[in-house]
Amino acid sequence: MLNARLSTSEIAAWLRETDAERLQTLWDKADQIRRERVGDAVWLRGLIEISNRCSRNCLYCGVRAERRVERYRMPQNEILDCANFAKKNGLATLVLQAGEDRTLDAGFVAETVQAIRDDFGLTVTLSLGERTDSELVRWQEAGASRYLARFETSNPALYRALHPSVDGGGFTERIDFLKRLRQIGYEVGSGVMIGIPGQTFDDLARDLALFRELDLDMIGSGPFLPHPETPLGNLEISGAYWQTTRSSEDSPKDAASRFSFRYPTTDDQVPNANDLAFKVVALARVLCPDANIPSVTSVATLDGRDGRKSALSRGANVVMPNITPTKYRRLYEIYPNKAATFEDAETTLQTTLRQLDEIGRFQGIGPGSAPNFLARSSASR
Ligand code: SAM
Repeated sequence: MLNARLSTSEIAAWLRETDAERLQTLWDKADQIRRERVGDAVWLRGLIEISNRCSRNCLYCGVRAERRVERYRMPQNEILDCANFAKKNGLATLVLQAGEDRTLDAGFVAETVQAIRDDFGLTVTLSLGERTDSELVRWQEAGASRYLARFETSNPALYRALHPSVDGGGFTERIDFLKRLRQIGYEVGSGVMIGIPGQTFDDLARDLALFRELDLDMIGSGPFLPHPETPLGNLEISGAYWQTTRSSEDSPKDAASRFSFRYPTTDDQVPNANDLAFKVVALARVLCPDANIPSVTSVATLDGRDGRKSALSRGANVVMPNITPTKYRRLYEIYPNKAATFEDAETTLQTTLRQLDEIGRFQGIGPGSAPNFLARSSASR
């Protein structure tokens, strides 16, 4: 039965499901739960990529520290111009996102958040990587109320292999970070990449079970898209990178201790494809019915015509149209051909609204907190 108590092995079986009729029952169930729990309104969050500076070297990411790319940080007046655009167009929430930019000053962020609240009355979501409790509290006091940080994979060995610890944390630190955000009182979002090399169907099933265990308010997951200028960029999903790394750089013994996960066989490796992303969206809706679930940019990148709409029809209820000034978009290239890279904010927003219209959905009015978060906040009062 499809319900919030699915076991990890049942989740894995759904992830492997190929029968079109059975999959239709999953899509229908997810869509039904979405309608009952969060309604037909789609919350639009204006995404501003405020800095592409990053101190980490995540093997998959196009803004990783070691990649040579022109770096930028948006000045406050440009961020506030974006807030003005959002306000004028009925976008009640902004998402300020950046790499793990250690030089992004906490005071600058606090002042910017405060100005967005005071001058425009918008809800502010931050996605600025792992920061200290005092910074998180300061930003919350300035008016930020939501925070996004994907845990990327629930397999600690794969997490370790993907995130060389140049600066900071491992998997445990990432999960602790999410728990700290919750304790401080943020509405908390997380998610994973789908089809990252080394990820098995069982891993992905455990990722979904962890969404439920963490009781997330927002769940955003999308396909891994290889960036050619990253270590994971040129491999076939068959795992050439890992095998090369093991044989050329490590003795077999070192390799086993550094990458202690079993490399998946071709059958076990999750493909980095939209059909898997739709299953993750639908299962996330079944497991976490009161969360906000975005239809993410990587899904739209793989299928510009139908990707967003399909995710919205299979459990999603949020879209984050990119409203970053066009001149910066090509520099925030976490993967190539990212949807909307060469557009302006107006075009991106109009495309989103048209797509909602095409599937009989509409832009929500207001901040659109997750029912999960609202229930928790009222219970704690
Ligand atoms: N630094 C912040 C953090 O770590 O939470 C946010 C910025 S980070 C660039 C945003 C997300 O981009 C990551 O959580 C990761 O899931 C996603 N991402 C990076 N490279 C990707 C790729 N090649 N394919 C798909 N998603 C990718």
